[in-house]
Amino acid sequence: MIKRVFKENGIDITDYQEQQLQRYYDILSEWNKKINLTAITEYKDVVVKHFLDSALILKSDLFVGQRLSDAGNSSVLDLGTGAGFPGIVLAVLYPGYHYTLVDSLNKRIEFLHIIKEELGLDQIRLYHGRAEDFGRDPEFRNQFDFVVSRAVAELPVLLEYCVPFVKPEGFFISYKGKKCEDEIKLSQRALQELNVFIERKEQYILSGEARYLLFLKNLSETNQKYPRKAGKIKKNPLY
Ligand code: SAH
Repeated sequence: MIKRVFKENGIDITDYQEQQLQRYYDILSEWNKKINLTAITEYKDVVVKHFLDSALILKSDLFVGQRLSDAGNSSVLDLGTGAGFPGIVLAVLYPGYHYTLVDSLNKRIEFLHIIKEELGLDQIRLYHGRAEDFGRDPEFRNQFDFVVSRAVAELPVLLEYCVPFVKPEGFFISYKGKKCEDEIKLSQRALQELNVFIERKEQYILSGEARYLLFLKNLSETNQKYPRKAGKIKKNPLY
């Protein structure tokens, strides 16, 4: 079923990858009874709205086949990964890159350690913490070829969380829903302050709903002013 849904949407996956996603679903629905991981629980909905939605980026030439690193494979940070979207799905379906998944809720990171182990995902690292703190850590700041994020905050706030992690010339790729255009309009100051520009906006239709991927190119190292302290960013976004 997973393989068929993906194929209908133009993404070919192997039998092994289908088994990994099936296992992911089984553990996710088991753990979801104990801790809050996702509001979407129906099998078909998880496959489409979590798995397939996370995988849409694999249809883009700006992500697939990129070698932005001087040595080795490209690095991807998933900020606010939650139950592993899109990070786990990408690590399963596109295992050549190095993945780092961060979330501020430790219970979710504990769950992801189980998933990593059970699915044999050696190419992922998992960290519990906040964007505002990691974004100031030299091991993370300006280090990633790609930063991805889905359903974490509205764009002006999200840009301040995510852009500091991106290497100059790298991309922040934001998964957005139907409010995408409005959020872009609100983000003009944030785009300027953080020195990124929208290289491309890709639209997909999923279960009749518009989904967007915004590809934001980072033009330089981020101004030391950003990210500001936790709380400030949300209370006083860069409008
Ligand atoms: N990306 C997942 C989860 C979305 S829910 C998905 O698409 O399903 C948002 C997640 O972001 C939560 O798990 C929350 O703990 C995390 N989060 C919110 N603000 C954060 C921050 N400042 N730093 C790190 N994680 C954050």
